[in-house]
Amino acid sequence: MLKLRQSEFDALLHHAESTYPQECCGALLGTPTGDIREVCAAVPCTNAQADSPQTRYSIDPRELVCIQRDAHERGWEIVGFYHSHPDHPARWSTTDLEDAHWIGCSYVIVSVEGSRAAAANSFVLTGTREEDKALSDEEIVIE
Ligand SMILES: [Zn+2]
Repeated sequence: MLKLRQSEFDALLHHAESTYPQECCGALLGTPTGDIREVCAAVPCTNAQADSPQTRYSIDPRELVCIQRDAHERGWEIVGFYHSHPDHPARWSTTDLEDAHWIGCSYVIVSVEGSRAAAANSFVLTGTREEDKALSDEEIVIE
């Protein structure tokens, strides 16, 4: 389960709308308790996917290292990631699964239709390694 405050959820939707028709991406910081990931901050990232930002996203590893360091300083960790699907459903793609490597983290996908955020779904990356990883539906709770 992914717990988000309304303000973080709104920030995430707004980021998705502002980068349309390109994909946005970002990291979710917070504290995990068992299978509940509680988000304390959503950090927008630059989509480093230069060749096809309409259909792909990537976060620069250097940016991610900075985010992770800042998170640790505040007593948090990376509990998930988000990205948008311009004019596509809020479901994960084969590429999304291939690009997901943080087992136990949430992957939120926001669908944006004609510059308006239409839906958001979250999936948790389950498994133990690259070979058996899978994205499973999980509940988003807005507080
Ligand atoms: Zn995607």
